[in-house]
Amino acid sequence: MVATLPESNVFHGRRVCGFDDSSLPFGEDACKWPIDKLRWSYNRPIPTLPENDFKDAVVIASGFISEVCGLEFEYTSNPRTANIILDIFRGSPGGELAHAYLPCGPVTANTQLQLNFDTADAWVIAANPPPNKIDLVRVALHELMHNCGIPHLSGGVAIMNPTYNAAIRKPQTLDIAELVRRYGMPKRKPTPTPVPQPNPQQPNSPTLPAGQGELVSVSFLNGKFIARVASGVTVKLANGTEIVS
Ligand SMILES: [Zn+2]
Repeated sequence: MVATLPESNVFHGRRVCGFDDSSLPFGEDACKWPIDKLRWSYNRPIPTLPENDFKDAVVIASGFISEVCGLEFEYTSNPRTANIILDIFRGSPGGELAHAYLPCGPVTANTQLQLNFDTADAWVIAANPPPNKIDLVRVALHELMHNCGIPHLSGGVAIMNPTYNAAIRKPQTLDIAELVRRYGMPKRKPTPTPVPQPNPQQPNSPTLPAGQGELVSVSFLNGKFIARVASGVTVKLANGTEIVS
């Protein structure tokens, strides 16, 4: 059995979730997975959102985690094979938005943890959500980070602050430090931007100044330009070469 945390009945404002994690271990004993890829699935999506949008929000949120640490996520349609199983519960509007369990104790590659969203809240998927709506990506990110073993954090603005914050949507400095401490640096390499390279075999052909002569053809062979000009014409190439034919 995995040690999980009891739900707290005490909410301070709009808490993202209701766990009292004040006694969680830190440092070497911090809760974490022994694997670097977590499979996720769901039993029931949030019914007020299109199912594909619900899935997309989880993909976006889990992608934000993989961008900053060495943990990857993979969707599976079979909840029985998932490490993280999403589901719903009926709470009260404006109270606890969701809750999730942490990988504390004897965690294995087959451990399963729950993540539950409250259907009583007004969910939306939006980078700039209206004040009366809750962005699922932000809450899913917070709860998935609990599933990764991160407790609530204080001391600065963080996704893992216990209170929902519409001003941030990605892991912040405090969040990233905890993720990297558990799972190392991200495996994803940033996509390199192609840099145009000069091709030594195909330099720009010389050009003729206007009215300087008649160039029949220019080719490039063995590292040299070969210019052919009409008989009896002197031409001066742009690179200074003068050709008399
Ligand atoms: Zn929380």
